[in-house]
Amino acid sequence: MENLSDVIVVGGGPCGSFTALNLAKLRIKVRVFEEHAHVGFPTHCPGHVTINGLKRLGLYPLPAKIVENTLYGVIFHSPKDCEFSVRFSSPITCVVNRSLFDNYIAEMAKNRGVSYHLNSRVESLIFEDGFVKGVSVNQNGKIEKFFAKIVVDAEGISSKILRQANLPTLNRRMLVNGVHGEVENVKDLEQDCVEVFLGNDYAPGFYAWLIPKGEDKAKVGLATKHGNPKEFLQQFMLKHPIASKKLRKVKILQMTFHPISLGGPISKTYSYGFLAVGDVASQVKPTTGGGLIFGLSCASIAAEVVHEALVRNDFSSEFLSIYQKRYEETFGFDMKFMLKVRKILNAMSDAEIHQAITLCKKLNLNKTLYNVKDIDFQGKSLLYLLRSPRILPVIFYFFFLYLSANP
Ligand SMILES: Cc1cc2nc3c(=O)[nH]c(=O)nc-3n(C[C@H](O)[C@H](O)[C@H](O)COP(=O)(O)OP(=O)(O)OC[C@H]3O[C@@H](n4cnc5c(N)ncnc54)[C@H](O)[C@@H]3O)c2cc1C
Repeated sequence: MENLSDVIVVGGGPCGSFTALNLAKLRIKVRVFEEHAHVGFPTHCPGHVTINGLKRLGLYPLPAKIVENTLYGVIFHSPKDCEFSVRFSSPITCVVNRSLFDNYIAEMAKNRGVSYHLNSRVESLIFEDGFVKGVSVNQNGKIEKFFAKIVVDAEGISSKILRQANLPTLNRRMLVNGVHGEVENVKDLEQDCVEVFLGNDYAPGFYAWLIPKGEDKAKVGLATKHGNPKEFLQQFMLKHPIASKKLRKVKILQMTFHPISLGGPISKTYSYGFLAVGDVASQVKPTTGGGLIFGLSCASIAAEVVHEALVRNDFSSEFLSIYQKRYEETFGFDMKFMLKVRKILNAMSDAEIHQAITLCKKLNLNKTLYNVKDIDFQGKSLLYLLRSPRILPVIFYFFFLYLSANP
């Protein structure tokens, strides 16, 4: 049958394409449906990722044109202008051009035989005997049906297809609305560090960022729990006591808006003939909003499990549940830890955030944090740091805040 493949992937974002690439490496026939005319557009994220994370995924080194900068650490700005920085001796993160990054993965998938259908919006799932067996696709106004043994949903945050599979959707109460822009003519840019600005006046419920791209160019953005992110960004660029000195005269080259899901992974990511991967499953760090490394890691686990399901000819929910079991073994602990930290941060006043950052600075915690080997696994990293007595006052401080937020 012409419209039959082994696997259908909904969405040609990084997680959909990486699932497809890993499946194609195992000689599995895959179709990817992407609703836009091009992969990688519109770009809603600055693409700040850990180098270790990319290495674990086999994606590093990336072609030079994709990497816009490599960074050695982070500078935190408290709401009352206390600055605390952690700098490593070698680059720890990099900034990728998201459009080129998404296309790079998609091109590798195509070269392995994956067929991409652009301008093709998946409208609905097709069910047979309780199993997902395919999708109905709107291609330029014409509806066509495609069939597969399994459908992988990588549609991003919209969750329209996920709802049809009767799986729980991400926690809307934990969404923040993000705005991301590219600017030039930035003054006094720290070239080797990302800058994070905390405070409810500028980014309530999250933070604002400034990521250097080289010379006078940068990526700037923020996310907010309420209000209009564009207005908050204008306020941040014009009025923030530190950021405004750098950003007041910039030229904005582009700006996009998109939500970030901070509620941790959805409670069930598999069904009969169906898996959910990436943002749709909220596989995003609740602390930083970074979804690329964990989403791509889940994509590679999903591909492994789909391959096993095809070999056994078993697409039952019971069998596909190993997907969730495997990724929870890898970073379930870290996700739970980061979600707790997010809840503590959300409950903190500006004065408390300022106090915490001042405490970190006073205790010279940068010397302890300097030993962290992997900033993706923040729960395990904290366990490692507990060996240092220097961190204990900060733990007690946060523990006290946790108790006050959860009486
Ligand atoms: C403001 C902001 C800043 C961020 N910063 C970072 C960062 O610095 N580092 C980081 O790691 N992460 C960051 N993230 C998160 C990161 O962007 C996401 O985690 C990542 O894009 C998830 O990839 P995905 O493939 O799951 O979803 P997406 O990238 O959203 O891709 C989903 C794709 O599916 C397509 N699609 C949707 N519905 C359909 C349909 N019905 N049929 C066909 N196609 C469909 C969409 O067009 C899209 O191409 C940020 C997010 C935001 C909003």
